[in-house]
Amino acid sequence: MSYSGPTDLYIDGEWTSSENGETFMTEDPATEEPYADVAEAREEDIDRAVSAADEAVNRDGEWRSLDPQERGARLYAMADAIEERKDEIVLVESHDNGKTPFEATLDVDMVIKTFRYYAGWTDKIQGDEVPVPGNRLNYTVREPVGVTGHVIPWNYPFQLAGRSLAPALACGNTAVLKPSSTTPLSALYYGVAAEEAGLPNGVLNVVPGRGSVAGNRLAEHPRVAHVAFTGSTDVGKGVMERASQNVTGVTLELGGKGPNVVFPDADLDDAAGGVHYGIFMNAGQMCWAGSRLLVHESIHDELVERIVERAEATPLGSGIDDDGRMGPTVSESQQREILDYIESGEAEGATVATGGGVPADRDAGHFVEPTVLTDVSNDMTIAQEEIFGPVLSVIEFSDREEAIEIANDSPYGLMAGIWTSDLQTAHTVSQYLDYGMVSINEFPVTQPQTPFGGFKQSGLGREQGAEAIHEYTQTKNVNVSLE
Ligand code: NAP
Ligand code: MG
Repeated sequence: MSYSGPTDLYIDGEWTSSENGETFMTEDPATEEPYADVAEAREEDIDRAVSAADEAVNRDGEWRSLDPQERGARLYAMADAIEERKDEIVLVESHDNGKTPFEATLDVDMVIKTFRYYAGWTDKIQGDEVPVPGNRLNYTVREPVGVTGHVIPWNYPFQLAGRSLAPALACGNTAVLKPSSTTPLSALYYGVAAEEAGLPNGVLNVVPGRGSVAGNRLAEHPRVAHVAFTGSTDVGKGVMERASQNVTGVTLELGGKGPNVVFPDADLDDAAGGVHYGIFMNAGQMCWAGSRLLVHESIHDELVERIVERAEATPLGSGIDDDGRMGPTVSESQQREILDYIESGEAEGATVATGGGVPADRDAGHFVEPTVLTDVSNDMTIAQEEIFGPVLSVIEFSDREEAIEIANDSPYGLMAGIWTSDLQTAHTVSQYLDYGMVSINEFPVTQPQTPFGGFKQSGLGREQGAEAIHEYTQTKNVNVSLE
């Protein structure tokens, strides 16, 4: 199916080609066919977008100083515009990324909810009165930071862009969005929605381009006041370093190696379902994937059997022409990397309980079979590094202390799962886990109102919920002498 949506950059309320006329081609990972030819933003285009956003943030009465309820109304209108185009965005996302329409629908729904959630925040962002000595009034104001840059990965292109755009805009900031060059298309629909919702020119700009060019420029631009980066830990460190040149704030949403810890008193069918979903959804290309299963030795065989059964019954396909429940991985290089990890696991002594390769019955697409590896110890490469594919590493434990120790033996700390019917076990283990998010008896789950983010090398700062309001505002303290 051919693409007929937007392909130009969206800068200062206009659709425009890049300054030097460069474009790049995207691929449909399910068919390996070219899908869309998109304008490629370079440094000079990023500069144009930042200038537009910088002018817009300071224009009187237009955005940051707009009646906050009116700003909220525009964000509700953004949500409505996205909802109206939902079917089209789902289809584009599915072609561009390879995810199934079922998965893409969840993503678009989450964005709609997120915009509505933050639309309601606009007139509730307030400071405090501070008690001070003497005849003085002292108060704080939460002000927008200015221009925000958003650098977004390819695994949830639409959803992750919306996750940081909505709070940034709600706080009265303006935004420049750089999606991944692997999956740039759905981001352009934010331009379409902004036009329809009547956002003033320059408030929201969308500039697809390569990370090493456009991403870098955005991170180091002196007029950018905050960078919301979602992506790999290594690139995140580089972004932080560039941003540090201007003491620019960052939110970093990075990688993970999440453990699902299953105790013998868990409902094993629920656990099998959650573990399966937590590693095979989005073809395992999830920061918050439950990529390590930590299972008590007494239930190891039974639980693994149930997960393997489910893995083998998972229909593959992008879902555009069949009922696939797991799509291809995003690219040939991603597929290669995942297969290399499986090989390294086998070389280090892991056993392939199911999957382990490319499905035999598909002649195109970067598919990898849902794979379960047993006999894994936590010091193996496959247990330490983020594979970012449909590969589950199964590790046994014999008691609660050992489970906690293995769970925390990771450079990452994004999301952990606990499966047990004992309240005391659930809450005690939760206390000891070095993770930014813990989910008990379901996995993974998040809502616009719950803070999302990681401990350790999984990130810095939080998206979603009230905490994101703090990321996208800065405190001003005002002292008034009443003498
Ligand atoms: P990535 O390679 O780090 O890329 C992320 C974004 O950064 C893309 O827009 C990329 O652009 C850009 N980029 C690449 N090099 C850059 C540079 N030198 N300077 C500035 N920007 C640069 O990550 P990915 O491979 O797309 O995504 C997978 C990673 O994201 C995984 O590690 C996953 O765990 C993480 N992730 C984290 C969360 C979370 O919320 N914690 C959510 C989803 C994903 P190009 O793609 O155009 O190069
Ligand atoms: Mg990459």
